[in-house]
This record gives sequence, structure tokens and C-alpha cells, in this order.
Amino acid sequence: MIFENTFKKFLEVKEFFKNLVGDNKVVEDLFKILEKPQREIKVYLPLKRENGEIEIFEGYRIQHNNFLGPYKGGIRYFPEVSEDEIKTLAFLMTVKCALVNLPLGGAKGGIKVDPKNLSEKELENLSREYVRKIYDFIGPDKDIPAPDVNTNAKIMDWMADEYLKISNSKDIKLKATFTGKSIENNGSEGREEATGKGGEIILERFVEKIGLKKPLTVAIQGFGNVGYNLAKFLYRKNYKLIALSDSKGGIYSEEGFNPELVMECKKERGVIAGCYCVGSVCDIRLGKDISNEELLELDVDILVPAALENVINEKNAEKIKAKIILEMANNPLTEEADEILNKKGVIIIPDILANSGGVTVSYFEILQNLNNEKWSKEKVFEELEKYLSKAFDEVWEIKEKLNVDLRKASFIVALRRIYQRYMLI
Ligand code: GLU
Repeated sequence: MIFENTFKKFLEVKEFFKNLVGDNKVVEDLFKILEKPQREIKVYLPLKRENGEIEIFEGYRIQHNNFLGPYKGGIRYFPEVSEDEIKTLAFLMTVKCALVNLPLGGAKGGIKVDPKNLSEKELENLSREYVRKIYDFIGPDKDIPAPDVNTNAKIMDWMADEYLKISNSKDIKLKATFTGKSIENNGSEGREEATGKGGEIILERFVEKIGLKKPLTVAIQGFGNVGYNLAKFLYRKNYKLIALSDSKGGIYSEEGFNPELVMECKKERGVIAGCYCVGSVCDIRLGKDISNEELLELDVDILVPAALENVINEKNAEKIKAKIILEMANNPLTEEADEILNKKGVIIIPDILANSGGVTVSYFEILQNLNNEKWSKEKVFEELEKYLSKAFDEVWEIKEKLNVDLRKASFIVALRRIYQRYMLI
């Protein structure tokens, strides 16, 4: 159902695209191909729990398309992981990589598990078991996984280690089978902050294009790697972060939060609630707690869903008051919500553009591993800016030319690249 709905949005650009390239038959064929992933891998992962019992976990790796290069995309650990969800996200990776002009295809993986219920050792064993099960299908020229929801550099390090072990090799090039590794383990500088940094680059470009004046008010749902880093970068660029939240709830202050102090407080308390840190002080009088639902419905300039998919749906779309939505999570809007908000005139900066910074720096990590190089963070961010600015400008040009919204324009830019390659196959 999620896939069907997401693909429906993609299908809306078919006619525009036909007009653009003029070869209707090939376009029809290409859409037919993209509607199905090339391979779906489902695995069952036995894990011996600390109480001695075996528990079986379900895992997936879905390889959507590799016309432009090896499959690429994250692995998420989440209790509600489903084949439908992973398939949708794999499709979005194909489009995202094409949009940013990376020589990579699209894939996604997941394990149906709540990692908070596992001990560190159990988490490691489960991660290694997953690699053993998908080993034959991954590698620097086949499929390159990365972190996603609830996975991180430590997990990528375990996975890369398991991959090398099975390969019986110490070749650094093979480490390019996984990106988002720790710096000590041939990860890239800036990878952890990359998705947030990319969001900042895209938003700044947009704000400049339409001539908005700062300070602009922002509400961010999600304070994980993506939400936190974006908040940090936006704060430095003079945006006013009036609401922030994690999965347990949020905080609100008209003064605007300092996310780095909020993070320090969250580390102490375990949750963001109660962390009213404005300027250089944290004080109870500076803010109040709000729910995640309230956060989404705030009257702000920019709303940023940076947690999970489908948080804006037919139930709350009418109540959204933000003028701009920056989609930092993958697929945060349902198809119905997208339609309602577009009608209301809300500008939506789509996930495949807004959050493409992560996979772009993943690509830099691959290059560094394959060429035995080490780039500085400055170089990583400089290159990131080049890739994302180019993607943004291309999307903007199509938007102006065809008078379509930013999601459709992004789809068209991505499709153009996949189409060109498809014509050569
Ligand atoms: N999980 C991230 C995304 O959805 C990064 C994927 C990657 O680096 O391969 O874009």
C-alpha cells in the first residue's frame, strides 16, 4: 500500500516526461520496469538471546534498480519494518541517487526489531548474522548498505568487519561495501552530519531563491542524527528553532532554542522534554512541553519532519499551518497529505532532495576507500555543496519550465538520468 501510493505520485510525472523526451513507448517501458524492484531478499535471522532462548528476526534487503551503478541505501532497525515499506524506500533511493547525479542505484534494508530491547552483544550478533545472510548480494560493485533509522557507525563497523572476515581479506577497498563507518574504520569525515548539512544547503538555496527574510521560524520533529544536525546548522545560520521534539515529546519556546545545549540536556535527562535551553542558559521559564502532534500543527515558516514516514497524513494535513515543509525523513507525507498541502499552497521540499546529503557523502566515502584517500571535512562539505547546489538548480529550472511542484520537478530530473542510461542498455 505504501509503495503503491508513493509510486502513484511518481506516475503523475509520466505525461510531462513523455512531452520532454518525445518517445512514448520507451517511457512506458521504463515506468513498467521501475514499478518493480529488481530483487527482493528476505532473510530469517536466528539470535541466541542472553536467556539462552533462540529468537528469529525477519530481515530484508530490497534492490530496486542498478541502471546507474551499484545498489545503495541504508539499513533500518525498527519493529514495524515491512516488505512494503522497504520496497518504497528502495525505490526512493534509486530516484535520490539519480537526482544528485551519483553513479549509484537504489536499495534499502531492514530488520524487524526494536534495538532498544537488545543488549549490545545481541545487537552485534544480529547485525553480523544479517551480513552472513546477504553476503552474496553485497559488495563495492554490487550493493553498498549504510546507516538509516536506529543504525549507526558502530553497527556499520561490525557489518564491514563481518564482511571482510567472510571474504578472508584485509583489503581496504572491500570496506567500501558499507558506508557510514566510524572515522577510525575508514569512514568519512562529515558523514554523520551530512544529511543535516545537506538539508541546510538545500534550504538556504531555496530561501535565497524566493527572497525570504530571516529570522525564519522552524519546528523540527525528530532529534536523532538528522534532526539534531540540521538544527545545529540552521541555528548557526540564524534560523529561530521554536520547537524541537524526540519520540517521547517536544519543547516550545518563542525565543528559539539552542540545539547544542538542548542536546547536552537531553543526554543528561534521556528525553528532550524539559530541556528549555535558549541562548546560553537552560531554564524552566524559557519554554514549555508540547506533544509531537502539536509540533506538527504549529504556525511556523518551516516545518521539518525528521523522524519517520507518514507522520503527516489525511488526519492532520488540513491542520498544518507551516508555509514550507522540508522533508528530512524519508516519505514523511502520505499521498493524500501531499495533495491537501499542495492545494493549500504549502511549499514542499521533497525528501529525495532535502535529505540527499547523507547518501552523497556516502558516495565520497566509497571514493575515499577505493582510492585509499582521506578527505578533510572542509573538502567533504565543499564537494557536498557542489553536488546539492547543482541538483537544486536543475530541479528549480524544471519547476520553472514546466510549472510543476518541487517533488515532480525532482522526479523529472532523476528520471532524465535513468532514461538516458536506459537508452544505452
Ligand atoms: N539512509 C540514508 C538515506 O535514506 C543514507 C543512505 C546511504 O548513505 O546509502 O538517504
